[in-house]
Amino acid sequence: MNIYSIPYFIAAFLVISLSIFVFAKDRAAFINKIFGLFGFFNFIWLLSYAISYQFKEIDIASVWLKIGYTGVIFLAITGLHFNAIFLGFANKQKKIIIAAYLLGCFFVLLLWDTNYFIQGYYKYYWGYYPKASSLHPIYLLFFTCLVVWIFLTSYIFIQKERKNLSSNQYTKMKYIPLALFVYTFAAVDFIQNYGVEFYPFGFIFVILYIAIMSYAIVRHHLLDINIAIKKTAVYSILVTMITIAYFVIVYIMESLFRGFVGYKSVPWTLSVIALFILIFQPLKNLIQSFVDKYFFKTSQAVLADELQKAQEELKRAERLKAVGTLAAGMAHEIKNPLTGIKTFTEYLPEKYTDPKFVEKFHKIVSMEVNKINDIVQQLLDFSKPKPLKLQESNIHKIINQTLSLLSNSFIKYKIKLIRNYDSSLSSVSIDPNQMQQVFCNLFLNAIEAMKGGGKLSVATKAMPDYAEITVNDTGKGISEKDLEHIFDPFYTTKETGTGLGMSIIYGIIKEHRGTIEVESKENKGTSFIIKLPFNT
Ligand code: ADP
Ligand code: MG
Repeated sequence: MNIYSIPYFIAAFLVISLSIFVFAKDRAAFINKIFGLFGFFNFIWLLSYAISYQFKEIDIASVWLKIGYTGVIFLAITGLHFNAIFLGFANKQKKIIIAAYLLGCFFVLLLWDTNYFIQGYYKYYWGYYPKASSLHPIYLLFFTCLVVWIFLTSYIFIQKERKNLSSNQYTKMKYIPLALFVYTFAAVDFIQNYGVEFYPFGFIFVILYIAIMSYAIVRHHLLDINIAIKKTAVYSILVTMITIAYFVIVYIMESLFRGFVGYKSVPWTLSVIALFILIFQPLKNLIQSFVDKYFFKTSQAVLADELQKAQEELKRAERLKAVGTLAAGMAHEIKNPLTGIKTFTEYLPEKYTDPKFVEKFHKIVSMEVNKINDIVQQLLDFSKPKPLKLQESNIHKIINQTLSLLSNSFIKYKIKLIRNYDSSLSSVSIDPNQMQQVFCNLFLNAIEAMKGGGKLSVATKAMPDYAEITVNDTGKGISEKDLEHIFDPFYTTKETGTGLGMSIIYGIIKEHRGTIEVESKENKGTSFIIKLPFNT
């Protein structure tokens, strides 16, 4: 790989990314298409030149250079077109724009079919480069006219419209001419067409143009694009760009120096690069601390600290919310059995000699105490999940065991069982006890939804990265309103329910780094789809 191609490859990649991004945001908008076209010709230019530098054979390199030059010819034209659409006078300038495209085609013909545009190639230290021929200056004149035209019309237009624009619109409006103005400096790459040997660094202005456009899109919603980017993301992008710019500068300095001094050996190159890195490092740090100070008013460390604090706060808020829900639910759940016990104990002093009463007392109180005990046990399971004890287990065996525990209920409620196991699914790394709890809760819910009979299907499937288990019932289903709450602790639609089953299931599946999805239709049935990754 010829290292002189690298900056071109990077710039080509950046410019096509931005173009595709803008184009994809609104494919119907004409302005986005022309913006994409402008980016596409930039891409052709940068990529083809980068490729041509890879070749020592002139006949291959020259084809790539010609393809690249075709892109170059259309740059100013699509730039003009884009600017005119953006400022809203494309219709008025229609003839000029069409004429520019036609002239562009004419120069492309000259380029490919004659020697008037380019004749021969210079061999520079970074690769071959087209040699300007007799009509090339005419093209440069044409190019200059387009550039002058772009800025003159933009300037006049913006001055004239200024009174009618809000300050926000005004800032927005300036961005495209500004970005194009910076971009125009890429024209330095025409100089090498006339035999002056210095590394063509026009790509820097393309990158600057991309930076300005991206900034305007993020900050001012240019081209009606709305994206939310976190401050930290902007920060990392800026730091990356500064670093890239830093290496590019070192690189250019080195190649200029090399052109000037004329050494060729690798040790020399490396030492000079090292020297420039040393010289420019303070400059880079300076720019970076400038960015820190003025864009963020804090340093990187403070920023990371802030992020961590925000995350901790969020976690704390979540925990508080969960504790609140738990406490409220628990109070509610325990209150009912307690009321029962209380009523009975009130009668105890006068009725403890009545054997009937004592028998009833014993029965009811122990039942209510059991209820409380159940709730507390489930709550403990929920709030203090036991650590996972993963072991390679046969998931079908676990499902079958759980089903046989519940076989009485299936008979009682006339529920038909359908099993559809994937035999290639031999073993999954899971905690068998906890997964049994998952299936038990799922099946209990299914039974409770099918008290009038129905079908319960359990299917498994081995996918490339995970095991999929689907539990489907033909019960009463879940209404849309309930659907989003079924995993909330204490959310229940049943008179005697605790509302903890689903949240326990959710916790266990999450511990296994799996997922659980639910699909349900009222009066049709419910499906739960569990996915367990193989490499937990
Ligand atoms: P509980 O079963 O004690 O109500 P869960 O957490 O197990 O608590 O379930 C929460 C709610 O989700 C249930 O009250 C019910 O409304 C709904 N639900 C769960 N599974 C099913 C199902 N298979 N069919 C219908 N509704 C279900
Ligand atoms: Mg339940």
